[in-house]
Amino acid sequence: MTLKGKIAIVTGSNSGIGLGIAEALAKAGAEVVINSFSDTEADHALAAKIAAEHKVKVTYIAADMSKAADCRALVTRAGGCDILVNNAGIQHVAPIESFPPEKWDAILAINLTSAFHTTAVALPMMRKKGWGRVINISSAHGLTASPFKSAYIAAKHGLVGLSKTVALETAGQGITCNAICPGYVLTPLVEAQIPDQMKTHNMDRETVIREVMLDRQPSKQFATTEQLGGTVIFLCSDFADQITGTTISVDGGWTAL
Ligand code: NAD
Repeated sequence: MTLKGKIAIVTGSNSGIGLGIAEALAKAGAEVVINSFSDTEADHALAAKIAAEHKVKVTYIAADMSKAADCRALVTRAGGCDILVNNAGIQHVAPIESFPPEKWDAILAINLTSAFHTTAVALPMMRKKGWGRVINISSAHGLTASPFKSAYIAAKHGLVGLSKTVALETAGQGITCNAICPGYVLTPLVEAQIPDQMKTHNMDRETVIREVMLDRQPSKQFATTEQLGGTVIFLCSDFADQITGTTISVDGGWTAL
């Protein structure tokens, strides 16, 4: 299957899941735009490395997904958008009473509102071509909850709702919109939670991973960035033409519990 001739934008893709998805799209032949809020030599070198490896055009565009104007400019500057993967995300863990309001605002802006802005600019481009894919990276926490992650869980449930609405507004137009709901994937975002969890539970690293993080993941295995890339490629294929307005869990059975 080839995505040659398609332009794909992946928000928050200079690390972790977004990077895995960007690499899978480049491997499938798409022209890829990778993104984060930083604008370093390393960011542009990363784009050049993926381009050289897969012999496709890969551009790095800096844009802060907490800012409406940046979200919209990212899609405009890409020069087209056939595949939009809304992946940028941050996390903060605290009980509601002590949850910093500015963290709530940042999480809602980056994890949810950015997808509204990018989608609003991308849809007319997709309609013009009669083909498009909007893929929102939600979470098992878009379908279930855990304590102390109020903003993240509200945002990820919101992404599932946004995906359904976009699906209804684009139905029958060659455009689909879905949310992928990963369980735990060992990325920098998850890695950063380990020290806190070790402190909270008074456990060593391995025990936290097995008994806390993967407690609700029946497979007891992390999902991988390659598996998420593969799920995106499937959603971009003709086989997925009639899959829209739904969620695909990649969570080792978490949401079956
Ligand atoms: P990560 O920290 O490795 O990657 C997050 C990406 O978002 C980075 O590229 C970062 O630079 C970017 N980002 C952060 N703030 C940004 C901003 N203001 N503007 C632009 N980019 C910004 O984390 P990850 O684990 O790869 O997470 C990627 C997505 O997958 C997130 O939405 C996360 O909620 C979701 N997710 C992750 C897991 C997991 O276990 N890792 C599980 C379910 C869902």
